[in-house]
Amino acid sequence: MARIVVPEAEALLDQEIPVLDKGFVRLVDYMGGDQRIVQAARVSYGAGTKSYRQDRALIHYLLRNDHTSPFEQVVLTFHAKMPIFVARQWVRHRMARLNEVSGRYSVMKDEFYVPAADTMRGQSTDNKQARSDEQLPNAERIIDQMVEDQRLMYAHYEEMIDKGLAREIARANLPISLYTEWYWQMDLHNLLRFLNLRMDSHAQYEIRVYAEAMAKCAQAVAPMAYEAFEDHIRGCVKLSRAESAALVRMLEGKDSGLEGRPLAIFEEKLERMRAAAPSEAPEELDGPQVKD
Ligand SMILES: Cc1cc2nc3c(=O)[nH]c(=O)nc-3n(C[C@H](O)[C@H](O)[C@H](O)COP(=O)(O)OP(=O)(O)OC[C@H]3O[C@@H](n4cnc5c(N)ncnc54)[C@H](O)[C@@H]3O)c2cc1C
Repeated sequence: MARIVVPEAEALLDQEIPVLDKGFVRLVDYMGGDQRIVQAARVSYGAGTKSYRQDRALIHYLLRNDHTSPFEQVVLTFHAKMPIFVARQWVRHRMARLNEVSGRYSVMKDEFYVPAADTMRGQSTDNKQARSDEQLPNAERIIDQMVEDQRLMYAHYEEMIDKGLAREIARANLPISLYTEWYWQMDLHNLLRFLNLRMDSHAQYEIRVYAEAMAKCAQAVAPMAYEAFEDHIRGCVKLSRAESAALVRMLEGKDSGLEGRPLAIFEEKLERMRAAAPSEAPEELDGPQVKD
């Protein structure tokens, strides 16, 4: 079977998508696309690629029903450059293959992440893992301090290297704002999981912007799968049993029955539902009627 070539993905190959102040995401290569997903799925269900409409319906059906293995047949390889603290979060997604620049082998470059002033927010009071919406009045001064520290650390690092200290130990004091680079290869199923977690509003801004750049690549490689991801994963809001019961009560014109923090979380979810809801009712795509 011939290699699948997707023109939109070909156009993105080797293009650096700038991220943060000095980082980027670059699609190095891809294998497969929507066509590969339907070919793989039809090994289960019989017959190959059909019309655009049938293929699209099949892809939606698969994702809606958690039949995820056909999505593992599509693979994307990225070259990305990010601050080490972003890499620390990123690398938690274990279903991937990576190769990172070596600070033992090479002298690390004098490249540090310097946050933009408008991202310098105060500590959130209701989420220990997040920043608030409130911008700090003294942001510029704090940024100057960060840059000052970075310069000092790097000057000492260079000094230690000049004195003959091994690179592998000289790097030990470099801060996590230092940029690193890697090749990162992931199948589409796991990439969509990654995107769902890291494009979420609860993810840290600095990794969210990388996820958004990678999402552009995923969308180019497999546009139907990406559309299904938006409809059935990103556009979904998970409700607990108590929240489902509260929603049913509300639909019956009754009070939700929730109060305090559970009510606040439920209301936030309702708000997300409203925000994600398309202005017109989306087309319902019928997939094949199959059983596992
Ligand atoms: C907003 C946010 C905040 C977070 N905060 C923290 C934090 O404070 N501290 C922290 O440590 N982590 C934190 N994480 C990381 C999080 O706990 C997960 O490790 C990360 O999201 C990767 O998810 P995953 O394990 O599903 O992905 P992957 O590692 O890609 O794994 C995919 C799936 O494969 C399976 N799998 C993979 N490896 C194994 C294994 N070794 N054993 C069993 N099953 C496996 C699991 O089913 C898993 O769900 C945070 C993540 C997010 C998005």
